[in-house]
Amino acid sequence: MSLRFYDTSARQVREFVPLREGSASLYLCGATVQAPPHIGHIRSGVNFDILRRWLSHSGYDVTFCRNVTDIDDKIIRVAASEGVPWWQVTERNQRAFTRAYETLGCLPPTVEPRATGHVPEMIDLMRRLIDDGHAYASDDGCGDVYFDVRSYPSYGELSNQRLDQVMESSDSDPDRDKRDPRDFALWKGAKPGEPSWDTPWGRGRPGWHLECSAMATKYLGPSFDIHGGGLDLIFPHHENELAQSRAAGDGFAQYWLHNGMLSVGGEKMSKSLGNSLLIPQMVQKVRPVELRYYLGQAHYRSTIDYSDAALREAAAAYQRIEGFLTRAVEVLGEVAPADRVPDGFASALDDDLGVSQALAVVHGHVREGNTALASGGKEQAAEIAGELRAMLAVLGLDPLSEQWSSADQGLGEVVDALVAVALEQRKAARARKDYAAADAIRDQLAEAGIVVEDTPQGSRWDLRRG
Ligand SMILES: [Zn+2]
Repeated sequence: MSLRFYDTSARQVREFVPLREGSASLYLCGATVQAPPHIGHIRSGVNFDILRRWLSHSGYDVTFCRNVTDIDDKIIRVAASEGVPWWQVTERNQRAFTRAYETLGCLPPTVEPRATGHVPEMIDLMRRLIDDGHAYASDDGCGDVYFDVRSYPSYGELSNQRLDQVMESSDSDPDRDKRDPRDFALWKGAKPGEPSWDTPWGRGRPGWHLECSAMATKYLGPSFDIHGGGLDLIFPHHENELAQSRAAGDGFAQYWLHNGMLSVGGEKMSKSLGNSLLIPQMVQKVRPVELRYYLGQAHYRSTIDYSDAALREAAAAYQRIEGFLTRAVEVLGEVAPADRVPDGFASALDDDLGVSQALAVVHGHVREGNTALASGGKEQAAEIAGELRAMLAVLGLDPLSEQWSSADQGLGEVVDALVAVALEQRKAARARKDYAAADAIRDQLAEAGIVVEDTPQGSRWDLRRG
């Protein structure tokens, strides 16, 4: 079965045929860095990280570009309210985003361009559009440059609207001199006290849509394979990106993939709701890898309605996987990831990235693996554990990978040695039939959050979770 995706533009599932055989180019609209990320932002990062890993696993040479929007009305407002320069706001929040992506195990993009570093490319694109009659500088000389939506007959194709259904664009001041209220701003004329850059049409700053077209084509070429982003970006952001790039003569994205939103109590995440769902707060509730499991497990196009209970369930599901692999390593020694993943897992991901079905194969393996271990079927358990690691690597969830095993490894070794001393004393107490002393040692360990389990292979310990 071949790889296929639901393409928003075609409104159907299409087979993935890359522009260049063996390679895949992917552009993802990244953060507007006016505030630190909540889990809704990072869900998109996790979804597209799984896509990127699956493309790589499937043999594609992936170029992944995820931009940073570092100039925007909201950034300017935050900076003004704090009395600091705009770039202090963006530096601080971009670092918070980078930390959050890393915390959740998202591989760094091939390139992560910032909008303000690409003004010459934006001027170039505006010049091409103006020369071809698709854009115009505002007649009042304010420095605004607009895209002329009536000059591009396919406008509305991505969001499936006819031009007469399109709402007027709200991204400029109402009194600006536009030819059509639906024309959107490519460039916004300078206002006093705001950051601005020189252009042939006056000083100003980039419009959001123009940034993404300029950066995507600079790093991926005039035509590239996949454009991703949240469902809420289809209109106007992606519609406008597509219109201006195609009007300028670029092929632009061949496939449009959109991830679903994350809601709380059925409502779209707002800033006030979102504060408790910032990444540093979330990783107090569960471990980062468990948060990744939670955000990645649902189909990328579905809505996730956040709940603590569902988060805990996801953490417990992940711990079942981890528990099997930990026991397998204890019994079998090191287990290397298999070269290939099971067919059921591959066909689930090939089918528009069906992570939930892929996880069903993962959990089937965990059950079979536990049975094999319990009955002493070491060879079978080793094979299952190897396949499991290969599948989990694609999902970015392998508990034995460097990402997830090394985080507290140094400390783990120290605790291991200390617990070993306590367990020796407990063993000695039991040998001399001093069960009260043996139980006291176990209880004290439990109080410290260390759970001791007696198995046929001896006593083993684990940190109490949750
Ligand atoms: Zn964008």
